[in-house]
Amino acid sequence: MEIMKNRSYLRKLRIESNLKNYDEMKKHFKWSKFKKEIHWMEKDKLNTAVNSVDKHIGTVRENKVALIWEGEKGEEKKFTFREIYELSNRFANVLKKFKIKKGQRVFVLLQRVPELYYSHLGSIKYGAVAGTMFPAFGPDAIYDRLENSEAVALITDSELVKRVDEVKKKLPKLKHIFVIDKPKGKEIDFHKEMEKASEHFKPKALNPEDFAFMLYTSGTTGKPKGVLHAHRSALYEHLTAKWVLDIHDTDVYWCTADPGWVTGIAYGILGSWSNGATSLVYAGRFDAEKWYELIQKYSVTIWYTAPTAVRLLMGAGEETAKKFDLTSLRHLCSVGEPLNPEPIKWSLKVFGLPFHDNFWQTETGGIVIANYPSMKIKAGSMGKPFPGIHAAIVDDEGKELTAGKEGNLALKPPWPGLMKTIWKQKKRFDKYFLNKWYLTGDKAMKDSEGYFWFVGRGDDIIKTSGERVGPFEVESALISHPSVLEAGVIGKPDALKGEIIKAFVVLRKGVTPSDALKNELQMHVKKNYAGHAYPREIEFIEELPKTQSGKILRRVLKAKESGLDLGDTSTFAK
Ligand code: ATP
Ligand code: MG
Repeated sequence: MEIMKNRSYLRKLRIESNLKNYDEMKKHFKWSKFKKEIHWMEKDKLNTAVNSVDKHIGTVRENKVALIWEGEKGEEKKFTFREIYELSNRFANVLKKFKIKKGQRVFVLLQRVPELYYSHLGSIKYGAVAGTMFPAFGPDAIYDRLENSEAVALITDSELVKRVDEVKKKLPKLKHIFVIDKPKGKEIDFHKEMEKASEHFKPKALNPEDFAFMLYTSGTTGKPKGVLHAHRSALYEHLTAKWVLDIHDTDVYWCTADPGWVTGIAYGILGSWSNGATSLVYAGRFDAEKWYELIQKYSVTIWYTAPTAVRLLMGAGEETAKKFDLTSLRHLCSVGEPLNPEPIKWSLKVFGLPFHDNFWQTETGGIVIANYPSMKIKAGSMGKPFPGIHAAIVDDEGKELTAGKEGNLALKPPWPGLMKTIWKQKKRFDKYFLNKWYLTGDKAMKDSEGYFWFVGRGDDIIKTSGERVGPFEVESALISHPSVLEAGVIGKPDALKGEIIKAFVVLRKGVTPSDALKNELQMHVKKNYAGHAYPREIEFIEELPKTQSGKILRRVLKAKESGLDLGDTSTFAK
């Protein structure tokens, strides 16, 4: 009872949001005014790892817990900023011992274990380019990334290294394989080297344009691209984490994303620690009860997750949530896919808080459009551009369109988070830019109040009887029906109409599929969305195909439907 009181008290503290007045800030914003928000080692020299961790040493945050780690079996470890600082220093010294050169690529292939976090920081601190991969990758996906990036070192474990063994012969540049448990043969004993290494390291002061980290995009639509980010992103990650995620010193922050995906890097390591957050990392998989238990156990206050997780929590039902004390929560955010209005309504009812949707891409280096804690949410909208970001809807020639018109979502470069390049694919990089705009490849609409509404990925838009229909709104209409848990909507080739709308629907637990239900769902969309944009075909399925970051793979549904090639499948969830 005492604990409950304390937690409710936390929310009642009524923490004032970091960004108090969006409109004012947007109007007068200049990047140069905020440069001092991050740590500069010398004039115009920085290191993003130093900014995230080392700068806290010698301050009140030095002995604050930076990382609360819980393993799959419930094991628990805590690390202070001082400890993360020393461990990352040690790893930087290990890289020095093995004569890694500045700018060389050092990759991690690990489960969400503490070693991942501090070795990633150690690599950046050293001046190497730190790369991450999802631990679910198979040998081919691992090979593609290590080969393309020409990685010289890899940190992994004795299970995952078996997949590397299958392709190692084809990777002559990969000289050093560090194994965190039971190394064999020529593999290097990670922990032995860490023990031998000094905890003191003089980090490199680097140029803002120097490469800091790279990762391959989640590959929802095609072959993954190696996106390179520069040290200058530190400012972008810091300010977005501060204003969108609203991190304060009193918060316990939980970003559920794996560092194999950019969210797990920018907001699971760099931007969050730059703001001094105490971060929770859970190494296990999604499980509604376990997730709630973690929030309760660690009194999580800020929770950053993805729409797919919110929909799965909905599927587990309100009763599951009610078994736990979740009153510590004060701010909820979501990213990765459009967040349908239904989960927002649900979270408001169950947690007493709405999820705040935000939009960004691996390439943008951080959140570019968001719902801010101090701004009114319009459910289903991505929100408004981050101060310092000029976003617009443009036509195919790069001409700005007026409010209410659907078109290409574009951003005006530069901003500090924008990628440096696509590794070894200059042409692919150049293709992002048109008439002074950076094109996201997504279709969206801006309303008269400046809110942006996601319509669909460029290649997910359905063209039916001369009309363009985005899958998102049809999916949202479907999941607002009480029998539906998730829906994936695609255009199915049709001789007469070009395409017809087809919906793949996952029903809630206990609902029986039937033709009558199909009719009911069609009527529901007609009534709640639009008469012309209802799904002519509905198929009930057990589960939707998704990426490892949890995004619905509409291209897989489409390929299956029309017998097309699946393309690159490396990032599919297994
Ligand atoms: P690839 O570019 O290789 O196909 P990907 O686009 O899935 O992979 P990411 O960079 O992880 O790789 O995802 C960015 C994309 O995710 C955006 O372009 C958009 O399509 C989608 N997205 C992210 N956040 C949101 C959001 N809040 N609302 C709608 N869509 C979103
Ligand atoms: Mg993309």
